[in-house]
Amino acid sequence: MRVIVTGGAGFVGANLTEALLRAGHAVVVVDNFFTGRRENLVGLDALGELTVVDHDVIAPFPDLGAAHRLYHLACPASPPAYQKDPIFTTKTAVLGTLHALEYASSHGTRLLLASTSEIYGDPEVHPQREDYRGAVNTTGPRACYDEGKRVGESLAADFVRARGADVRIARIFNTYGPRMDPKDGRVVSNFLVQALRGEALTVYGDGSQTRSFCYVDDLVRGLMGLMETAKDPGPTNLGNPTEFTIRELVDAVGRVLGTAPRIETRPLPTDDPTRRRPDIGRAKAAFGFEPATPLEEGLRHTAAYFRALVGEGNAPVGR
Ligand code: NAD
Ligand code: UDP
Repeated sequence: MRVIVTGGAGFVGANLTEALLRAGHAVVVVDNFFTGRRENLVGLDALGELTVVDHDVIAPFPDLGAAHRLYHLACPASPPAYQKDPIFTTKTAVLGTLHALEYASSHGTRLLLASTSEIYGDPEVHPQREDYRGAVNTTGPRACYDEGKRVGESLAADFVRARGADVRIARIFNTYGPRMDPKDGRVVSNFLVQALRGEALTVYGDGSQTRSFCYVDDLVRGLMGLMETAKDPGPTNLGNPTEFTIRELVDAVGRVLGTAPRIETRPLPTDDPTRRRPDIGRAKAAFGFEPATPLEEGLRHTAAYFRALVGEGNAPVGR
């Protein structure tokens, strides 16, 4: 198949692009390199037919020709990255998704929208099932991303109803792995890079907040599985339901690297969700989704990747 991946130079997008090329598909990456990095794509053209189009999805798509599938991932995902220029983030999430849907519906292309667990905000129910409607602060510093993604889901549903578009919605929970930007400021990249540099790990708040971390290979299998479901199962959580406190993540990083990490406490960012864990029953029922990589194994692979990169200029981004 011919497959478009917007955001294909980013962390998830580049891993997805590699998997699609390995499966024999031709891939067109569309990216403006806002958070994406050209080095994420180095060597992938040896695996198959890869085209890279430098384009900002805030503008309507250029002529990309026909495609069978479009994975719409273009959007900064790390809180420091999406809060750097929140108006750009909202435009990317809303206009970018509008343009992707316009392209897909006019070309008969199936589109998968990369939505997020953030649409649940700071959830009042636990674990989060897809029928939970969320608790988002519409005017807080995370709203540009959370609300932008919520509008993206609304647009996708309206394109299905009004124009018969063929759409899948993936609600992705915290994912980590090789090709993360060492400076992107998310917790797994920060902790591993800090530990490898012999620095203290920056714990925001008291570290009792939880996240459920999914290794990127498991997520990529989930994205491809959801895309290929014959019948749309509706918005579908993708992630690993094993939940850890941030303090437990510190300990796991210590075990993986064989060190006893020092901790430096920083203030908890505004609206930081307290708990987050996906109910993945829908993905299991629709296409047998089951994450296979335990946290410490995934951290070992990710640490090996960061070890090769860590040096001057790659200090983690703090808050
Ligand atoms: P990332 O920041 O590494 O990648 C995002 C990519 O989109 C980058 O290559 C960036 O340059 C590109 N991009 C951003 N704005 C753009 C624009 N206006 N035009 C064209 N390209 C643009 O983030 P990621 O972790 O790879 O996330 C990929 C997608 O998955 C995002 O849509 C994100 O919201 C979603 N997601 C990721 C996670 C996660 O834990 N990684 C969790 C939930 C949702
Ligand atoms: N966090 C932390 N130290 C860091 C970066 C993040 O303690 O250096 C915390 C953050 O406050 C949040 C959790 O780790 O509670 C996950 O943060 P991340 O930015 O990775 O993703 P989020 O789920 O908040 O979008």
